[in-house]
Amino acid sequence: MSADIPADALVAPYDALLVDLDGVVFAGGKPIPGAAETLATARAAEISVCFVTNNASRTPAQVAEHLQEMGAAATPDEVLTAAHAGVAVMSQSIPVPGPVLVVGADGLMQAASDAGYHVVETASENPVAVIQGFGRDVGWRHLAEAAFAIQQGAAFFATNVDTTLPQERGFAPGNGALVGAVEVATGVTPMSAGKPAPDMFHMAQKILGATRPLAIGDRLDTDIRGARAAGIDSLHVLTGVSDAIAVAHAPVEDRPTYIASDMTALMRPYPAIFTEETVTKAGAARAEVTADVLHIRGEGIDAIRAGCVATWDVTDADGTQTVDTSALSGLG
Ligand SMILES: [Mg+2]
Repeated sequence: MSADIPADALVAPYDALLVDLDGVVFAGGKPIPGAAETLATARAAEISVCFVTNNASRTPAQVAEHLQEMGAAATPDEVLTAAHAGVAVMSQSIPVPGPVLVVGADGLMQAASDAGYHVVETASENPVAVIQGFGRDVGWRHLAEAAFAIQQGAAFFATNVDTTLPQERGFAPGNGALVGAVEVATGVTPMSAGKPAPDMFHMAQKILGATRPLAIGDRLDTDIRGARAAGIDSLHVLTGVSDAIAVAHAPVEDRPTYIASDMTALMRPYPAIFTEETVTKAGAARAEVTADVLHIRGEGIDAIRAGCVATWDVTDADGTQTVDTSALSGLG
């Protein structure tokens, strides 16, 4: 461990970071302050980095280029996309060269052909499998060819099943929504490799040769659920999709190991969070649930941490019990 990182820093026990992209390192076309600098500090301390993304439309080279534009050092071999994970899962049951029908963008086409598959575009070319990933130009004709091929007996794979894709103007349909159209038409559910399946985290850990990696994400039902499924500790950052109230209401399988405002928390100590009697303490912050209402004393991220843990303590394991967590609004 380098002298650059304090021994009591959150990141100190870990030897690798498995980092989500959108909502963690950048938000759409803008860098998230502190993310690139934090990654650079981690690298200088010989903590390895793999970018693990459910986005299957860009090639690793395109992703690395975008990261460089955002000020973060990255090479294509440090990028693991759901396209690669999807093709890896497909290769366990579909021998090369296929043929396979690819529905999606460049990233998936390239991943399939790099793996040795003969890529076709229509059901009449008798594909033995369909693999579907997000692409902005995917339309009805592509979905129809996928449905025809699956009805002819082709196996069905998806890179990921995120239902939404966050855009500046709101939430647009994600790959899961487009896969859903084919699924409804055929009655066949695809096998998916993207988060929250643990495959990508296991692949990244193997690529890096890491013994104790930490996953970092902004979305509970993909990043954090996937990390937990893979048996890996996780840091949830509040710079993306899931806010503090979503964290407080998360079911057990979506609860992160750590909660932070952003990635810079990696270089600082994480407070011990514990509940005495009915009061949860995090640093100077205190939180307590009485009569199903969360009360918080304190400010900032420690107040959020205490509020989330206090809510988890009193909530059903499936997260369905109702606690009024409006005290969390405006704390971040
Ligand atoms: Mg994200």
